[in-house]
Amino acid sequence: MGEGGCIFCKIAKKEIPSRIVFEDSRILAFEDLRPQAPVHILIIPKHHIEKIADIEEDDLGLIGDLVLAARNIAKEKGVDRSGYRIVINCNKDAGQEVLHLHLHLLGGRKFTWPPG
Ligand code: AMP
Ligand code: ZN
Repeated sequence: MGEGGCIFCKIAKKEIPSRIVFEDSRILAFEDLRPQAPVHILIIPKHHIEKIADIEEDDLGLIGDLVLAARNIAKEKGVDRSGYRIVINCNKDAGQEVLHLHLHLLGGRKFTWPPG
């Protein structure tokens, strides 16, 4: 596990501290360092997948688990009824900064559509 220099691999291995909100054998969820909403959690696979464009059939169970984790955390944070957004940025035009697959769970305020 781990891709040299990848910040989220380091977070997954606890080499860099994060504010963890959920963890199991394959998944870690932690608070975003620069929150864009009252609730802003990142949910990542512990092993390195660069981006959603790289997922394969074998990853579908994992992707489902990432979404389930997001759903559960949204409920724990109390935004399941008010609403929330799950965002996966892929590559340059979407503004992906960290090249380790992550779901953003955003909630606690009203979001606009279309997104910026
Ligand atoms: P993206 O633009 O989709 O790649 O989002 C990357 C996210 O990672 C941004 O929202 C950053 O604020 C967040 N981020 C970067 N470094 C850290 C870190 N060390 N701990 C928590 N969040 C981070
Ligand atoms: Zn990584």
